Amino acid sequence: SSGLLAGKRGLIMGLANDKSIAWGIAQACAAQGAELAFSYQGEALLKRVQPLAASIGSSTFIECDVGSEESLDGLFDAIKAKWGSVDFVVHAIGFSDKNELRGRYVDTSRGNFTMTMDISVYSFTAVCQRAAAIMAPGGSLLTLTYYGAEKVMPHYNVMGVAKAALEASVKYLAEDLGKDGIRVNAISAGPIKTLAASGIGDFRYIMKWNELNSPLRRNVTQEEVGKAALYLLSDLGSGTTGENLHVDAGYHVVGMKAVDAPDI
Ligand code: NAD
Repeated sequence: SSGLLAGKRGLIMGLANDKSIAWGIAQACAAQGAELAFSYQGEALLKRVQPLAASIGSSTFIECDVGSEESLDGLFDAIKAKWGSVDFVVHAIGFSDKNELRGRYVDTSRGNFTMTMDISVYSFTAVCQRAAAIMAPGGSLLTLTYYGAEKVMPHYNVMGVAKAALEASVKYLAEDLGKDGIRVNAISAGPIKTLAASGIGDFRYIMKWNELNSPLRRNVTQEEVGKAALYLLSDLGSGTTGENLHVDAGYHVVGMKAVDAPDI
């Protein structure tokens, strides 16, 4: 095949349905010639993941709960058994109790704080450990983050604290794995209506605000995140590591409500 990722093999983690950011990235990678495997969380999601993956030519699905070391070991053992190595991994996974994605951050419970950090932050480090062990120089690791890591956004709460830790971990991982020629980056996506996003309080309001106030005066799509991911996953991004690439219609540069934006 031809394309930016011709001859490359990639693992996509976090596909839940056709609204997932992982789906936008998977489609872009497949269109550029990559061979893909998918991990999914639990049997219930398989019936969604399987037809989507099949539609872009993949028949490799491996169950993995990133909260479990055994499950992660099983995933990477399976990848190693199938391919021997992997060229790129996309980590599009996050989770928190939706009851704490509204109201005040100060009320976050210890249990949910720990769980959110485990699933949304540590899991990427755990993935990088295992992926790097079967990755040749030129490999690329990618995670997804949000502006709520950098600035206070309504309702994002503990997830914002987790994304800040995730963004810091991208920098440390980039340093550790850079010596082996492996790059580690994040994409900070603007708000996109997905299953995970529906757990965030007033998400429609956040989408509308971004649409009216971002420099491009619109929201971004899964496809646009997919296009940016191609840069970071392919040789186009060979000089870029430890980066947090904003794909948010420019919202992160804005300091104030746009003059022409109506009140909402
Ligand atoms: P999504 O619901 O489609 O994907 C989230 C995925 O996380 C699901 O596939 C789910 O199965 C998986 N997951 C959760 N807990 C897991 C576990 N224990 N083990 C394995 N998988 C688990 O939603 P999405 O919006 O596509 O989310 C993907 C990533 O993008 C997340 O990190 C999210 O924080 C990030 N992000 C989303 C937005 C947005 O507005 N949607 C913006 C910026 C960043």
